[in-house]
Order: sequence, then structure tokens, then C-alpha cells
Amino acid sequence: MTQPLSREQSFAKLKAQSRFDVIVIGGGSTGLGVALDAAARGLSVALFESHDLASGTSSRSTKLVHGGVRYLAQGHIPLVREALRERSTLLHNAPHNAHPLTFVMPSFQWWEKPFYGVGLKVYDALAGSHGLGATAFLSKKETLDALPGVRSQGITGSLTGGVRYLDGQFNDARLAIDLARTAASLGALIFNYCDVLGLIEDAGQVVGVRVVDKEAEQSYNVQSGCVINAAGVWADALRGEGNKQPAGKLVEPSRGVHLVVSRDFMPTDSAMLIPKTRDGRVLFIVPWLGHLILGTTDTPVLDAPREPHADKVDVDFILGEAAHYLERAPTRDDVLSCWAGLRPLVQNAAAGATAAVSREHTVEIAANGLITAVGGKWTTYRAMSEDVLLHAIAAKRLPAGTITASVTGNLPILGADSPCNTPDLEMAADPSFVRFAIKHEFARCVEDVLARRSRALFLNAARAEKLAPAVATELTQQGLRAGDVASFILLAKQYQRCP
Ligand SMILES: Cc1cc2nc3c(=O)[nH]c(=O)nc-3n(C[C@H](O)[C@H](O)[C@H](O)COP(=O)(O)OP(=O)(O)OC[C@H]3O[C@@H](n4cnc5c(N)ncnc54)[C@H](O)[C@@H]3O)c2cc1C
Repeated sequence: MTQPLSREQSFAKLKAQSRFDVIVIGGGSTGLGVALDAAARGLSVALFESHDLASGTSSRSTKLVHGGVRYLAQGHIPLVREALRERSTLLHNAPHNAHPLTFVMPSFQWWEKPFYGVGLKVYDALAGSHGLGATAFLSKKETLDALPGVRSQGITGSLTGGVRYLDGQFNDARLAIDLARTAASLGALIFNYCDVLGLIEDAGQVVGVRVVDKEAEQSYNVQSGCVINAAGVWADALRGEGNKQPAGKLVEPSRGVHLVVSRDFMPTDSAMLIPKTRDGRVLFIVPWLGHLILGTTDTPVLDAPREPHADKVDVDFILGEAAHYLERAPTRDDVLSCWAGLRPLVQNAAAGATAAVSREHTVEIAANGLITAVGGKWTTYRAMSEDVLLHAIAAKRLPAGTITASVTGNLPILGADSPCNTPDLEMAADPSFVRFAIKHEFARCVEDVLARRSRALFLNAARAEKLAPAVATELTQQGLRAGDVASFILLAKQYQRCP
């Protein structure tokens, strides 16, 4: 089993080397994907994440590896085709993390079954050889068997049947950790709790970054001709840094909220998708790690806090819509965890002439050479990373002779050996679990273990709160500061609160 360098060893290497082919800012899906792609091409890489890996948006997704039925309805065929190809690549490269998931769309109006069924047949056709199985029309009985707990009398009519199709599901934060481990096994230095404070410039060109190790409170200047800003909804803070030119806004955050309830409300391994709720939004009810995730919303917001909150309107929408489809509707008292994430939506107009804009993600190369990569979705992180490196090569930010073709399409992702893959929440407090998370998975504190190595905080926040002292004890045994139990408990209480 490959063990990443310890934090101390990584900093010793950073001091000795101080110049890298690529510096990545941000340890979410985008930054980790870029770090892995670059390391797999044989480049030297240092990645700096100001908090924990995946602690931003990348641990707060709906956990779907999908082509995007919604994009299909909007006619974005190339995007859907790319995402379906990437879905297949991820299922192939990380089978311990991602797996196919059956979705059922129940129909309550006569036109829904043929309308959505034909659309999903097109989805199958676009997947081609990457398809996971054929879309099927279901009778009323088959629909009720697939989705026990679903109403047979909806608000728009009686259940007439449904449409079944296949997509993918994964564990987002754990995939981020797996990507970090894989990149580290190829020589990348991965630093969490290391904030990039600013850019270093020479003659108007970015030549490195100033970082601070937040644990040791020590600063470093790290050099590279290729600095990639993958800071998600926080990316704008670094654009316009250094050369002090106003860069305009590239990212507009949009908040998505999820509620987790007991699987008893819909005891099945299939997910339900309502493509059009009363106000036109999509609703997912998805089984995940023995629980049900209900979501999500999409609300533009002005600021980007580290821990975004759901508001009453979000919760009213999700519970209100779920009540239209489930016989026994969950209430606020049934919510085991309530969490929100911020989508980094791209303001294309701000990107300017030097930017290469696609609807899904944007790669911007600024006048000072800073490469900013934002947008996209988890499913397409690999294709996005490949695109970022193609732009870096085209802009001559990488060493001459850098191989132009990515090798990540067929690169197994580490992680199958991790005891932290277990869905058993109680296991998270087991000393061997905590030790593995520290030694192999970059965990530094109680929150890292209970939110992202185990997913206890996201599944059952009250349970996670109870596990915190035992996790802290083992962290202390391993020489880490565990004085953060009180702050974790506050966080766990926030996840228990359902406004
Ligand atoms: C509600 C919701 C549901 C979603 N569902 C899905 C889904 O089901 N399937 C799917 O494919 N996609 C989904 N997505 C999209 C997907 O989650 C995002 O596209 C993806 O996680 C964005 O990753 P990122 O790396 O760009 O950003 P982030 O994960 O936010 O990473 C950016 C990182 O940069 C760090 N950072 C910021 N500033 C600095 C600095 N100065 N120095 C160092 N580090 C810094 C941050 O701490 C953060 O960790 C969903 C998104 C949301 C919000």
C-alpha cells in the first residue's frame, strides 16, 4: 500500500525544492483533478488547500455521476455526451467509489411516461457504448415495487407508471481524497490547511505564490511558471491579485441545499427523480450510504461563506415537494442532517477575450499568466483537468516537451484499500479508522475524520456529534491537536438545525 509523505516530510521536500512545474490552488475536484493529471504526465506538482481537501463545494454535491438529464432537455447535446463518457471513465477507474444507480421517474399525467421515456431513450443513444443499461417503461405496479413509499395518488393525478433509467452515484469527498492519494503516489505534494495568500510576480508575470502553513504558522514562497487557480467560488479573490488590475467577477455562487432522512421513508436502492416540480425545478430523492438525500435547490447568493446555511424557503421547498410524492412525508423533525453547497456558476461576460468559455466550465488565462479554472461539475472533473493542462501547454506555461495527451482516462484511482469506505458511521470512531485517515488520507482534525473520511456529519449530525470525543482522543494519541471538539460540536449542531 502506498503511503503519502507525512506532513513534515512534505514540508521538508517543499523547502528543498521550492520550484515546481505546476502549482495548484484549491483542493476540490478541479484542483485535485489538475494535480493528478499533471503528476501523471511526469510534471512536478504542489497543491495548496486553505482548509481540508473537498471542504468547499466538492463534499456537498448530490453525489450523482450523471450526463445531466436536465442539460439534455435544454439541448446541450455535446455536454451530455461528454458527461456520459466521463461517467463511464469514473466507474471504470474508481469502481470502489462510483457505481451505477437506478432512477425512476413516476408519471402522474398521461403524457409524462411517453415524453420522458423518449427523452431518456435519446440519453441512452448518446451514451452509446458507455451506456449502463436500457431505459424501460414501467407499469404502475412495477413503479410502486421500485419506489416503495411513493404515493399512488399524486397532486396532478393517479400514478400511471414510470420510466426507469440508469445513471451513476459516488462518494464525492472520498473521491477527492482518493484523487489526492493517487496524485501523491505519482509524486505530487498535497498540502491541506495551507492558504495561498497571494501571487508572486516578475515583470508582470506570475512566477509563484506566497503560502502559509496554518498549523505551523510558517510562510513559504513557492515558484512556478504555471499557477492554476482552482479556488471554486473563492477564485475571484486571486484574479487581479499581484498585478492589481481589476479583473471583473468570473464566479456567481448559487446555493444548493440537501436534507438527509431515514431510508424508511423510501426503503429502496432506486432513486426517484421528479424532473419538473410545481415551480419547474428538479427534485431528487436518492438513497445514499443507508440514508435518503432529498434535494436540491439552486438559489443565487451574493456572498460565499465557508459554511453556507439553508434557509426556510429552501427547506419548505424540499419538504413540501417531497410530501407530494411520498406516502409518509418527512418533516423537519425527521431531518438527520441539513447541508448546503455553493455552485461556482460562471459569468461568461466577465471572462473577456482571452478566456475559453464553454457552458460547463471556463479556463481563463489572465494577462499575468494566472490560469483560472472554474465551473463544470464533479462528473466531468477529469475532462476539465485535461482541458486546463491543454490551455497551460498552449500558453507555454509548462516545460517544453510536456506530453500533450492526458493519461488519466485509463488510470486507476487508489482508495479501494481504505477502511474509511465503510458506510458504518460508528466505525469512524474506531482507532484504526482514525489512524488510517491520518496516515493515508491527510486528515488533521475531528471535522476531517467525521465530515469527509467518514461521512457521518452529512448523514446523521447528532450521531457525528457523539462520535467526536472518541475521534479526538485518537487524534491526540497520534500527536495531533484535538482541541477542536468544541468547534466540531457547534458545526454538528448547525447541520442538525433545519430552518
Ligand atoms: C448543491 C450542489 C449539488 C451538486 N451536485 C452535483 C452532482 O450530483 N454531480 C456532479 O457532477 N456535480 C455536482 N455539483 C457540482 C460540483 O460539486 C462542483 O462543480 C465541484 O465540486 C466544484 O469543485 P471545485 O474544485 O471547482 O470547487 P471547490 O470544491 O469549492 O474547491 C475549491 C477549493 O479551493 C480552496 N481555496 C479557496 N481559496 C483558496 C486559497 N486562497 N488558497 C488555497 N485554497 C483555497 C477552497 O477551500 C476549496 O476547497 C453540485 C454542486 C452543488 C453546489
